Amino acid sequence: MQSSIPVHHEKFYIDGTWQKPATTLRIEVIGANNGELIGSVPEGGQADIDAAVTAARRAVEGGWSESSPAERAAVLNRFADAIEKRGDRLSRAVSMQNGMPLSLAEQLEVGYVVGLLRYYAALAQGLQTEERRHSPLGFDTLVRRKPVGVVGAIVPWNYPVVLSIMKIAPALATGCSIVLKPSPGTVLDCYILAEAAEEAGVPAGVLNWVPGGRDLGAYLVAHPGIDKVAFTGSTAAGRKIAEVCGRLLRPVSLELGGKSAGIILDDAKLDQVLPGLHFAAFGNNGQTCALSSRILVPATRYDEIVEALAELAKSLKVGDSLDRTTEIGPLASAEHRERVESYIARGKSEGRLVAGGGRPRHLARGWFVEPTVFADVANSATIAQEEIFGPVLTVIKYRDEDEAVKIANDSDYGLGGTVWSADSQRAQTVARRVQTGTIGVNGYVLDMASPFGGIKASGLGRELGPESLAAYQQLQSVYLTG
Ligand code: NAD
Repeated sequence: MQSSIPVHHEKFYIDGTWQKPATTLRIEVIGANNGELIGSVPEGGQADIDAAVTAARRAVEGGWSESSPAERAAVLNRFADAIEKRGDRLSRAVSMQNGMPLSLAEQLEVGYVVGLLRYYAALAQGLQTEERRHSPLGFDTLVRRKPVGVVGAIVPWNYPVVLSIMKIAPALATGCSIVLKPSPGTVLDCYILAEAAEEAGVPAGVLNWVPGGRDLGAYLVAHPGIDKVAFTGSTAAGRKIAEVCGRLLRPVSLELGGKSAGIILDDAKLDQVLPGLHFAAFGNNGQTCALSSRILVPATRYDEIVEALAELAKSLKVGDSLDRTTEIGPLASAEHRERVESYIARGKSEGRLVAGGGRPRHLARGWFVEPTVFADVANSATIAQEEIFGPVLTVIKYRDEDEAVKIANDSDYGLGGTVWSADSQRAQTVARRVQTGTIGVNGYVLDMASPFGGIKASGLGRELGPESLAAYQQLQSVYLTG
């Protein structure tokens, strides 16, 4: 972020240049820590999306899709360098917008992102796009992997940078171009990314950003110039997007909501579990899709573990997200806090409140909520089934491992989860039985080199790892019969 707050932008980064918006509408960004205006940007209109899609199409057809692996790798590496240089501004911009503790923003929204771009640069370098196969019918076939073309990408506000780069990196590695629509709540960070793209010499039209709301997102999804949609956000929006893409027969990847289980086994060592749960259950103030927000606790150690979870929640330092000692920052917006508080109100009739439940008294401004724990919750309760997306844990008692696995799997979602045990082999055996796209043993860290995504209502397709490249490619078989 520029040194003076609020920061105001007047243009969009489209076609490698800063272009005037088609409308006079503006998006105002309110700081999560204090409710004050921290910036504003133009709000995109349909004509801006049209311009961005046209530029993206020109880029893929004008040579980018035919560029060499070395060229794409160099672009990705230069982009990583340019983002790294802006790391301080970027992490502060994210933190001020959505309340992410600064130390986490530095780690994930900058450090991880830079690593991710370099990882995909290496993958781009080694990309095999043609394979000659001998057919059992006696001739050879050339199997080609071509870039899918122009990607329409839509991201939410909780990890605006990393979720964008999870789409940008494989798209660039495979030779696609992107039109990206960020969430209205987090639009300042994308200007820093655009500035980095410009400095890195990303070819014109390959990366374009048009901020706007859900109507603009819907326009992008259905745009005739889009070849593939990459979406991260709520399950409700994901279903609508999937319907449109189904009608259009347009490839789509969907990273959606979650309500994952953290299974604490009866031999778990609490001094190992509690620091791990700090991120795995409360990470980014609870505004993380894959959090273990349903904690499954063995009946034999129930009271001891509930007490320890309550103590953990009470011990977390809630404060200004820019303060490096803060562990839990504010929620992203006033509306989001209201939503989280309505779940807390509901939880008071569905469980026993053992920590939090209110607003921290020492913070008069900003969208803060105390880290909250409900014990004695039935897995069928609303607070155990619906995604709250705030620092609110529900604790559910189980009798034995079979019942723990059954409860973990009794969810509409299937995104993440964790298993905690002094015996990592035992935890792994339980983890294998949990029906989710990812799961952590004694912790939860997104491995950039392995596929990430969900099953059931948590989505379709995978991001990260070499696997995500396939989502940005289409196959062509050339039969060499004569
Ligand atoms: P949201 O679905 O309301 O919005 C996400 C983005 O989609 C925004 O940019 C929004 O403007 C746009 N959008 C909304 N409706 C749309 C539509 N019909 N057509 C096109 N675009 C549309 O979600 P949110 O509240 O911004 O984000 C929180 C949600 O994101 C949570 O459910 C969380 O679990 C999920 N999420 C999932 C992952 C994952 O990888 N699985 C990661 C982060 C967040």
